[in-house]
Amino acid sequence: MSIIDIELDEEMEMPCPCQHCGEWFDLHDGRSSKSWYPGTVICKECRDEEREEMEAEAAEDEEEDEYEEEDPDDFNPDACPECGSDEAGAVICSECGHILVDDDD
Ligand SMILES: [Zn+2]
Ligand SMILES: [Zn+2]
Repeated sequence: MSIIDIELDEEMEMPCPCQHCGEWFDLHDGRSSKSWYPGTVICKECRDEEREEMEAEAAEDEEEDEYEEEDPDDFNPDACPECGSDEAGAVICSECGHILVDDDD
């Protein structure tokens, strides 16, 4: 961007370029950046953007904290290894006839 191409708003008292978007804004209307450019004044639009991004990141952190890992262990020791039928206490599977207990020696 060339200085010559910039049309300064006559109402601006202290025009300065925004670090983020490069647009000119009046320093009086600017906002102090907290996350992107700490200690630097950026335009109001970018400050709003920055704040939204910070809020979105804060929301993501909260979601991670609330996230609970589900226990994938759904193994059923009473299920027939052949057909998956629930045969709790049965010796022979009623569905496929698979023998569910080992023979005692
Ligand atoms: Zn900006
Ligand atoms: Zn079975």
